[in-house]
Amino acid sequence: MPFLDLPPWILTLFLAPFGLVIGSFCNVLIHRLPQEDPAERNIVTKASHCPACQAKIKPWHNVPLFGWLWLRGKCAACGWRIPFRYPLVELLGGVILGGAHWILPFGTLIWLKGVLCAFALLVLFFTDFTEFILPDVLQFPLMVLGVLFTLPQVFLADHSGVVMGPHGLTDLLSVSLWHNGLQPAPAWHAFGEALTWQSSLLGLILGYGGPALLNVTYKAIRKTDGLGMGDFKMLAWLGAFWGWGPMLGILFLGAALGVAVGLPLMLIRRSGAQTMLPFGCFLALATPVVVFFGKALWLGYLGWVG
Ligand SMILES: [Zn+2]
Repeated sequence: MPFLDLPPWILTLFLAPFGLVIGSFCNVLIHRLPQEDPAERNIVTKASHCPACQAKIKPWHNVPLFGWLWLRGKCAACGWRIPFRYPLVELLGGVILGGAHWILPFGTLIWLKGVLCAFALLVLFFTDFTEFILPDVLQFPLMVLGVLFTLPQVFLADHSGVVMGPHGLTDLLSVSLWHNGLQPAPAWHAFGEALTWQSSLLGLILGYGGPALLNVTYKAIRKTDGLGMGDFKMLAWLGAFWGWGPMLGILFLGAALGVAVGLPLMLIRRSGAQTMLPFGCFLALATPVVVFFGKALWLGYLGWVG
């Protein structure tokens, strides 16, 4: 199996172009999912078109990243300036798929989960940033998916297999679907125990319940809506993906980021508490920090307190 010996950067060269294409599809989702007209929400059969002049986009102009560079950021038909968001999302798609196996072992469930979560956050960050919308059509399936990811451990008690190592039969590697990979990740070290279904389910429930309590308090004090319902759903699926502990960490860090950005904005605009903030964006930014460094941050905090 020479595949096992592939250096990570070869895998990156192979996977990154697919990531650019998925990034391009993310742009379609970001543009169409928040639309009010159901016909405009069609993401399957409707051909790519310029949002300004409705002209169909020629296939060679639709090549991720290069199409935008070729057109120098303008629609070929009407000259509409294509927002920088389009090539940025495509590039980030390439970075996600081309880079994930540097952190999470390639081909494992944790890799798939990380990649799916990253693409979901990419789409939700921009639908919230541009339209203040976190589409249900993405968030409900993500809640189910998060819990489903914990099931292999329930039904496959010994969820490991044996893969032949690079030196033949004498070099058998024990491979866990969850923890080890077909390809060792250079930056990867133990993530600790795999997430249990109990923690996933509790994360899902608390994701709704925790902020709901906060919101009741906030409404009572400010007499306005605090967080939007979309934010609750986002916390719920993040809780299902990463467990109730990290979900609370994401809520805490996301809120702290929101205050850090929101307070200066309120002062500059003098709009007071009426300033609308896309809270989903802050949750999206907080997620990778908590997933990768949450444990270290938490232990550091406990050490500092005690
Ligand atoms: Zn156009």
